[in-house]
Amino acid sequence: MKKTKIIATIGPASQEEETLKSLILNGMNIARINLTHASHDFCKDIITKINHLNQTLNTHVSIMLDTKGPDVIVDKFDGGSAYLNSGDKIRIYMNSILGDSTKFSVSYPGLIHDVKIDDIIKINDGLIELTVLEKGYDYLLCKVITGGFIEDHKGINVIGTKLNIPFLSKVDQEDVQFASEMNVDFLALTNVSSAEDVLQINDILINLGNDHIAIIPKIENERAVDAIDEILDISDGVMIARGDLGVEMPFERIPGIQKSIIHKCHHMGKVSIVATEMMSSMENATRPTRAEVSDVAAAVSDGVDAVMLSGETTVGKYPAKTVAVMSRIIETAEEDVNYYELLDQAMRTERQDTTGSIAYSVVECASRLKVKAIVTPTMSGYTSRKISRFRPSCPIIALSPDEKTVKNLTIYYGIYPEQMKVVKAFDDMMEHAKEAAGKITNAQCGDRIIITGGYPLKEVKHTNFMKIEDL
Ligand code: PEP
Repeated sequence: MKKTKIIATIGPASQEEETLKSLILNGMNIARINLTHASHDFCKDIITKINHLNQTLNTHVSIMLDTKGPDVIVDKFDGGSAYLNSGDKIRIYMNSILGDSTKFSVSYPGLIHDVKIDDIIKINDGLIELTVLEKGYDYLLCKVITGGFIEDHKGINVIGTKLNIPFLSKVDQEDVQFASEMNVDFLALTNVSSAEDVLQINDILINLGNDHIAIIPKIENERAVDAIDEILDISDGVMIARGDLGVEMPFERIPGIQKSIIHKCHHMGKVSIVATEMMSSMENATRPTRAEVSDVAAAVSDGVDAVMLSGETTVGKYPAKTVAVMSRIIETAEEDVNYYELLDQAMRTERQDTTGSIAYSVVECASRLKVKAIVTPTMSGYTSRKISRFRPSCPIIALSPDEKTVKNLTIYYGIYPEQMKVVKAFDDMMEHAKEAAGKITNAQCGDRIIITGGYPLKEVKHTNFMKIEDL
C-alpha cells in the first residue's frame, strides 16, 4: 500500500466516468479541478461522478479546487492555438480579441500600465519569451525572443515587475462560495504572495460558516517563498507549484526550495504537495523518463504528503497509465525511505504534550514490533494527523464517524481513512479497529496492530490511549 498520495488534475482527457474509475483504481487519492480552466458546470459534473464512484467502489477520493487567483492568462486563439515565430513582432491587446500569430489579448487590462519597455514577458511556463518594445493606446507591441506554440488560456509572467492585481477578485469570491456549496475538501489558492492573502479567503469561508475546507496556498512566486513561515502558520499545507515558480525565479533554485518547504511542512505538521512536470513525458509516451522517476522518488524520500499530476491527466494520452506508473514508483521508493530519520526529525520539533508523546511512542513501537497497521479512531482527525507526522512505515487506518474528517485525511501521508459508526464502548471500538485493519491491509490472524486515540471518542480532544492487539 503506497503511503504518499496522488493528486490528479481532471480535464478533457479524464472527465469520463470510466477514466475517473481507472484513475481511482490505479491510485488517485484526490481529484483536482483548476477553475482557471474549468467551468462550474464541469466541476459539478466531475464531483457528481466522483461521489458516485466513491459509493460504488467504497473509496474516499476527495476533491480539490484551485482558485483562478491573480494570475494573468492569454485569451482564446483562432482554432485554439497559434505559432509565434522567433524574431516576429506581436501585439498584446488589453480588450478581448481572438488571437493568431500576430496578436492576442490577455485577461488583465492593467498589464499595459504595469509593464515597462524592455520587460520580459513569459508565456506557458516560460516556454515562450517576448520583450516589450512599445506601448500603444490599448496594446503592447512586443518582439518574440523565443517562439513556439501558444494555446488558449496559457499563463503569463512578467519577470521582475510586480503587477498591481488585487489578490481577491469578485470572480474568486464567487468561486470560493461555489467551492463551499459543492462541499469540496481542499481549496488551492493560486498565486498567493503573503499570509494576508490567505486570511482573505479564510474570512470568506468563516462568513460562509464553512469550517471544513482545508486551505492550500500555491507557492509560485518569490514573495510567497520569502513569507513561507507566516503562510504555513495559518494554512493546512502548501502546494509547491513548480511551473510558475520556475518562471518567476531561476529554475535551478527549485530543488532547494522544494526540499526546504517539504521539511518545514513536516516540522509544522502541515501538508506538502509537489506539483508540475513530475511525469510530463507521459502526456505522449507510455513510459516516464528516468529523470521523472527520480524526481518522484526524491519527493517521496523527503517525506512529501502528496505528488501531483497536471497536463498528464488533463490532456495527456495516457491518464490512467500515468497514475498507475506513478503509484509503482512511489511504492518502490517508499521501500528505501529512512523512516527512523523522519521520526527523529519530527520528534525534535514535537510539543511535549500528551498527544505528541503518545504519537511518538506509537510510531516507535510500531517500528520495533513491525506492526501491520496503526488504527486511529478519531472525530476531528487530530490523532491521525499526529501519527502521520511521525511517518510510520506501516499504514495508518483512520476511523471516523465524520465524513468531512474522512475526506480531509485522504491527503495526509500514510493515512487510509474509513467511515465508521459512533462506537461508545471501548471494547467495541477495539473490535471495530481490528476488523478494519484486517479488511484494509492484508493483515492475517496473529498479526499485530496498534490502536491509539482519545477515549471517550466524542468527549476527549487529545490522544490518551495506546493499545497493542493481535488479530
Ligand atoms: C504550477 O504553476 O506549477 C501550478 C501547479 O499551477 P497551475 O496549475 O495554475 O499552472
